[in-house]
Amino acid sequence: TSFCPIFRSAKLFTKAESSEEDIDDIINDIFDDSSFAKKPVKLKSKSTSSTSETNSGSVQACGKRCCPVYLGGSTALYGIGTNISKRTCDQLRCTACDFCVAHYDDYLWDKSCDYLFFRNNMPELSKLRVKMIKKKGSRAYACQCSWRSIDELTDLQTDRQLHWVCGKHAE
Ligand SMILES: [Zn+2]
Ligand SMILES: [Zn+2]
Repeated sequence: TSFCPIFRSAKLFTKAESSEEDIDDIINDIFDDSSFAKKPVKLKSKSTSSTSETNSGSVQACGKRCCPVYLGGSTALYGIGTNISKRTCDQLRCTACDFCVAHYDDYLWDKSCDYLFFRNNMPELSKLRVKMIKKKGSRAYACQCSWRSIDELTDLQTDRQLHWVCGKHAE
């Protein structure tokens, strides 16, 4: 009679084995469900990021983008700008001319700079140097259509004529 329970448990074991396949099926089902569930979440985050862009970056959930975007003098640190960490953006891009914004520490632009000068010489530093004046503490910013000489930390939003945006930071 003592064999009886062992035989039973062996039977239980084979039964458990067969039910393992069921578990696999269940796991597959769960996996399918979760991958399916991921899609709407992804879409949702994409739509929120696009709305934050149209709101000119006023939403905090902008990942590795600066918000607000800061310009600064040569002593200002580069990095991702936030309300707490006021770092100046080094990944600026101009939406008007589609150029990356160049920045040169301890320089300012000569007063005689005009649209054509940048149009013709951007981004060749050797040519730009002609109208760059050495000035400690300043930083000269320029794309192909706009230029600024910055001395102090400046929130980009306060300068409505510039079409510069943070072009995202790689980490
Ligand atoms: Zn930035
Ligand atoms: Zn531009």
